[in-house]
Amino acid sequence: MAILIKGSELAQKIRENIKNEVSSLGIKPGIAVVIVGEDPASKVYVGRKEKATLEAGFNSIVIKLDKKITQAELEIKIDELNTDNDIHAILVQLPLPKHINSDEIIQKILPHKDVDGFHPLNVGKLWIGLQPYSVPCTPYGIIKLLEENNIQISGKHAVIIGRSNIVGKPMASLLLSRNATVTVCHSRTANLKEIASQADILVSAIGKPAFISEGFIKEGAVVIDVGINRMPDGKLTGDVDFNKVEQKAGYITPVPGGVGPMTIAMLLYNALNLCKRSGSVSK
Ligand code: NDP
Repeated sequence: MAILIKGSELAQKIRENIKNEVSSLGIKPGIAVVIVGEDPASKVYVGRKEKATLEAGFNSIVIKLDKKITQAELEIKIDELNTDNDIHAILVQLPLPKHINSDEIIQKILPHKDVDGFHPLNVGKLWIGLQPYSVPCTPYGIIKLLEENNIQISGKHAVIIGRSNIVGKPMASLLLSRNATVTVCHSRTANLKEIASQADILVSAIGKPAFISEGFIKEGAVVIDVGINRMPDGKLTGDVDFNKVEQKAGYITPVPGGVGPMTIAMLLYNALNLCKRSGSVSK
């Protein structure tokens, strides 16, 4: 039976530490969260981020914009935040409406205010081993979970299923830089099950409920479930068929309570870091 990796516990610890640090910082880290339109899932995520940032003592503002906003209007909004000295971290909730070019918006955020680590400068720095202003929250949180549980990464075969810019690709970079041998799979990968079952560390970020059955798992593997899928009954479930896979895996993250809380904790961590690096904090 697999050992449960409790992301919610580590996330709580990180959030407490951040709250303590913020209280003695002398200023409030400022974070702006921009949401465009009425996507229900995005509203839930933004609500959670706002609550967490306020609890940590941040100056948190949520900017709600109409779904019909133009590209130019949204870019002006980002520029205003870029030049606002009280705002140290900017997050634009994705996905944006289809008529907006998300890549352009991400590039508009100043790299040193890019709390998600999605700006090309930060992405590039991550890949070439330079310190980015921020590391993408979800994969960064996964690394913290592996480290907290003393799971060896170096020399291990890590298989990542999913190649998004948000999860899969930065996950690959972080594991590679810690000397894992990394395989990235996606919807066109042939023999997915065969490849996955060679993994010492398997990260699934697909978005398909219970897709990863025990046949994908090597005995004793570390299984990290990033997927968040809402079922017809309203419950959340991951990509992994938890009850079957936990019989075979060595470690496993639950959904909910695994990777999700770590994403929020690392958002706070990144925002605090941007504030500290901004020069607003007296040394
Ligand atoms: P995307 O939709 O951007 O990417 C999904 C990836 O999965 C793509 O690379 C896609 O391949 C691949 N994929 C889809 N179907 C299959 C398949 N049958 N076999 C193999 N690969 C497949 O999603 P995200 O990366 O943004 O998110 C993935 C999941 O993680 C979602 O459930 C999301 O809600 C969740 N998530 C959870 C977070 C958390 O904090 N826990 C944070 C961010 C996301 P291709 O590229 O070929 O299309």
